[in-house]
Amino acid sequence: MSAERTAIPVLEVVGLKKSFGEHAALDGVDFRVEDSEVVAILGPSGSGKSTLVRCIDQLESIDGGAMYLDGELLGYERHNGHIRPLRDSDIQRQRRRMGMVFQQFNLFPHWTVLRNVTEAPITVHGIPPAEAKKRALELLDRVGLADKADAHPRQLSGGQQQRVAIARAVAARPRVLLFDEPTSSLDPELVGEVLHVMKDLATSGMTMVVVTHEMDFARGVADRCVFMAEGKVIEDRPAQEFFAAPRSTRLKAFLTRST
Ligand code: ADP
Ligand code: MG
Repeated sequence: MSAERTAIPVLEVVGLKKSFGEHAALDGVDFRVEDSEVVAILGPSGSGKSTLVRCIDQLESIDGGAMYLDGELLGYERHNGHIRPLRDSDIQRQRRRMGMVFQQFNLFPHWTVLRNVTEAPITVHGIPPAEAKKRALELLDRVGLADKADAHPRQLSGGQQQRVAIARAVAARPRVLLFDEPTSSLDPELVGEVLHVMKDLATSGMTMVVVTHEMDFARGVADRCVFMAEGKVIEDRPAQEFFAAPRSTRLKAFLTRST
């Protein structure tokens, strides 16, 4: 959206490195996400997409580089001219400003849909229960599940469960939503309803990072597309150009295979 380079980005990743043993899953990744921007991350299996969002959400430690949320260093602090890891409580505080939606919905099976959505706002964010419930019901209505508030996850289809997971992530009023292949475990006929909800969020101005294989979503909804291969960003372009005029041989080959 905004091409303003002067504003502080919502998310900025600089020279990010992450290895598993000898293998560099992320080999110096740079990317930024502006306010209200929707960025799709594409690339072959094993290119580091999940590792990237897991590092941002601080589910993985990092080996080099830095990440910033609204200009604030993630996971570390400067102290007497040194950089040191943040305490767990500060990491949790930073993580609360991000919402994550996984391929597996990770709902709590023994709780109702409503409780799945209200639990974090009440216990983590200190929202009064009545207010949390009101907002959860509004969000469930928005994802088309107003009538499922009292159901349990096992009574729902995969698409419905993923829509609950999205409502849960939004309920915490995150600064940015991170999605890791949110439709990849769904039967094909259920993919559309989840993409529809994501498109609605994107249109409403939510800042989103979406790892996906859904090319139509990337082309039609994302502002920018980032193509990764072997732990590196190969192309990072406005969605229109990305699909219409890929530059690298690798992206051309990827698009030929995937579309
Ligand atoms: P993508 O999401 O693009 O498919 P990943 O980020 O999951 O890729 O993986 C990138 C690379 O890192 C792969 O080679 C993968 O095998 C490796 N990897 C990811 N997570 C781990 C882990 N926990 N332990 C060891 N290797 C891992
Ligand atoms: Mg992955």
